[in-house]
Amino acid sequence: MPDPISEITRFPESDPGPEPIHVGIACPTVYGVAIASLGYQLVHLIAQSQPGVVTHRIVLDKPDGKSYPTRTLEEKLDIKSLDAIFFSCSFENDYIHLVRMLDTAGIPVLRRDRGSLPLILIGGIAPTGNPEPLANIADAILIGAGEINVPAALDGIQDFIPLLRGARFKSGRDQLYELWDTKVGFYVPELWSDKKGDFKSQDGRKLGQVYVDALDDFPSYTPIISSHGVYGSKNLVEISRGCPAHCNFCMLSYVNRKGQERSVASILENARKFTLDEASIGLISSRVGDHPGIVDVVNTLADDGYDVSVSSLRVATSTDELLQALSRAGTKSVAFAPEHGSEKILKLINKQYAYEDVLGRINASFDVGINRIKLYFLTGFEEETDDDLSMMVDYIQALINDSGLMTRGGGEKLIIGLAPFVPKASTPFQRRPMQPERVLKSKIKAVTGPFKNAPRIEIETESPRSSILQGIFSVGNRELTKHLEFVSRTRGPVISSWDEAVGVAGDSPVRLLMESRTTGAVLPWSFIKR
Ligand code: SF4
Repeated sequence: MPDPISEITRFPESDPGPEPIHVGIACPTVYGVAIASLGYQLVHLIAQSQPGVVTHRIVLDKPDGKSYPTRTLEEKLDIKSLDAIFFSCSFENDYIHLVRMLDTAGIPVLRRDRGSLPLILIGGIAPTGNPEPLANIADAILIGAGEINVPAALDGIQDFIPLLRGARFKSGRDQLYELWDTKVGFYVPELWSDKKGDFKSQDGRKLGQVYVDALDDFPSYTPIISSHGVYGSKNLVEISRGCPAHCNFCMLSYVNRKGQERSVASILENARKFTLDEASIGLISSRVGDHPGIVDVVNTLADDGYDVSVSSLRVATSTDELLQALSRAGTKSVAFAPEHGSEKILKLINKQYAYEDVLGRINASFDVGINRIKLYFLTGFEEETDDDLSMMVDYIQALINDSGLMTRGGGEKLIIGLAPFVPKASTPFQRRPMQPERVLKSKIKAVTGPFKNAPRIEIETESPRSSILQGIFSVGNRELTKHLEFVSRTRGPVISSWDEAVGVAGDSPVRLLMESRTTGAVLPWSFIKR
């Protein structure tokens, strides 16, 4: 674990006051990944900026996923002694680490077993999609924008802290639940549960998700920089949120349909929080090239002397000007997502880039000196036949041939990323089944096999087992509590602990994922209004 002293921090001034509340900002992953998570760092920035709040970070100790902390990262406080812990979960598989973190710290995993602080709050894109697997664990699940609901959650805790810290904890907690329940974006599972802990509907009431009106009203940068982050010392800056492209499998597009953009001035202000010597800049968006001022932004930062990189680009909007600007700013690697080589599957998933357009973007990137290009592909659709898989192989081979990859002289490489389709809440594919592990394995082998030893090609695949686990938590319900509880008590690798949990608590969550959720079936997240 790197020494926090080696970090560079840029928090705004804040006033903890004479009797602050002490809040854990937790990421159920290791330090290097946590510090490279803009979502986690923004929760920290928001909470730390609130008067009367002192924040303490909590991350996994070691990358083996077996070592869990009992103390906070900075002051080594006993985690149990905190007033509240905010967990930031970008990925569903993090839930297993989350429950083990609670258990190791000596905090009862189930809400009904907790009779004192800390309160447990959970947010992030994964529970925003489907909070139900965590419903028996969290005091509140924050649905939507942390910029709005984290300060509101802290306000409530501050209001009730005299009761919560004393003998009247339960009374204070119940009043706090009632208060939170009046706010958009707060899922208070206790108030949606019957005596047995099962989901209790509220006569058609829907829970709202919270959005920010204007991104510029809030800061967006990583307040802590460390060379131990998985991307190195990089200041991540969000330039836009949501995506209007609506690919049928993509939750990002359906939990935030608005598609909001930050102004050029705001992006530059956030990007310049660290000096050239301190950090490079990562511009974060699912659609970087769609931003009308993006070329301006990248060129201005390049003129300043910053190195700039971007998250994945859309084929349709990565113009020659943008690629040239990125190259000027030191970008050596970009990613595109053609997704498939079969017209039939592309139509099915609602993503149809012409082959010539994908090839054009690869060539344009190579031509300006961006020499590593990652291409994301998806497999695992029921309609996908051997012919469709062959088309994907032919498509990749054609890109290799037509881009002249093998004869280019700049060390160019293509990285082929292939992942199984995982059904996600609130998307048009939310009722689709996931294919079994053996089918996914065989499809991945069929597509990647021909390129295994090809020069200048790297293959990166998602594990079918890990993807299936992700699917289980993506579409699962409270029944998963039993499995999570079991997993929390084991210390083995995540996948084998999960297998043991299925052996003990039953395989109904697996069956729920593998069978199609018919139109009439009520989905666990159906009470959330998007
Ligand atoms: S897959 Fe990419 S382009 Fe499609 S909706 Fe999601 S973010 Fe947008």
